[in-house]
Amino acid sequence: MKKTFKFTVLPGDGIGPEVMDAALDVLKKACEGEDFELSYTRCDVGGAAIDSCGEALPKSTLEPCAAADAILFGSVGGPKWEHLPANLQPERAALLPLRKIFKLFANVRPGLLYPQLTDASPLKKERIPNGIDIVCIRELTGGIYFGEKKTFKTLEGETAACDTMMYKVGEIERIAEVAAQTAMRRSKKVCSVDKANVLETSVLWRKTVSEFFAKNYPEIELKHLYVDNAAMQLARDPNQFDVIFTENMFGDILSDEMAVVCGSLGMLCSASLGDGSNSLGFKFGLYEPAGGSAPDIAGKGIANPCAQILSAAMMMRYSFGRDDIAVKIESAVRKAVCDNVRTGDIAFGNKPVSTKEMARAVIDRL
Ligand code: NAD
Repeated sequence: MKKTFKFTVLPGDGIGPEVMDAALDVLKKACEGEDFELSYTRCDVGGAAIDSCGEALPKSTLEPCAAADAILFGSVGGPKWEHLPANLQPERAALLPLRKIFKLFANVRPGLLYPQLTDASPLKKERIPNGIDIVCIRELTGGIYFGEKKTFKTLEGETAACDTMMYKVGEIERIAEVAAQTAMRRSKKVCSVDKANVLETSVLWRKTVSEFFAKNYPEIELKHLYVDNAAMQLARDPNQFDVIFTENMFGDILSDEMAVVCGSLGMLCSASLGDGSNSLGFKFGLYEPAGGSAPDIAGKGIANPCAQILSAAMMMRYSFGRDDIAVKIESAVRKAVCDNVRTGDIAFGNKPVSTKEMARAVIDRL
């Protein structure tokens, strides 16, 4: 009997459903004739779920996610729901709880800019003649975003507020493992980013990371950078990095800096990975494009589906253990773009194609 790869599809709002349909068409074609079957349930999330069920993450969406081995996510949010209180709005009430509920502590975001797309980057072409190919690994469920918070009405006569940054050794080691595994699939180079000259959490981070790599991955070349220097180096010469690995807040900022040096949001995918194994013995994960619901172009059929397609490829790699299918999809996207089949966001003088035409071009090159 064939194995079943079970995932939940959450297209969400805006361009989400359009790029999701394109990604599913590519995924199904890429998996044709293989020794497994794809099985997925499609559910509303975010604004679409508020409209259909009255809440952004209803039980009818959460339950199929819990029963699946992965989640393929589109994007949520848009002007229609902005009048709602902040804690009920699509991103805060759907995406953040999903990360928390499924303990998705590791965010893996490839920063890939094909040499043919260097025009899309704000960096000078001569700095990135061969494009960019790096990965950012960000700790996603610890640090200052999740530490104790407090607002004081009066403290020494003034209003004040504080956030707490805390990391435990185990939290650092489990994200170090994701960075190490990523580096082992690439060029065995990791740059760990902290602020160990100022922060106690960073002192612990640096010590733990150094010991972890020395003990478990001596073949990996490990380097440490302070976050201020890392931000500068990323803008100066991104390709000096291969795997950048850091804590939650530093990763939030650096991964967005990386996204901008890599050009269009429409090309960048990401994986948020959990602990332990799914029913297939691989990682449970949520896979989504780096961009949002793009209300300015939603419904026009012109969004770039590549980020969603590449997110589906990451799902094949991390949650289903099929690196070969992931590579097949990634190569087809690269070929299509390099053959100048491009949506408007990356057209640069080429005649822009529609979302469906872009997906067709990828399918033709699988
Ligand atoms: P956005 O990422 O949706 O759009 C920014 C710009 O990038 C827009 O001009 C958009 O047209 C373009 N863009 C994004 N993805 C594209 C694609 N695939 N193809 C072509 N162009 C693309 O950011 P925003 O406008 O700040 O946010 C819009 C909504 O999305 C907001 O409600 C925001 O909260 C939400 N959002 C959701 C997520 C998520 O679901 N993970 C992430 C970011 C923003």
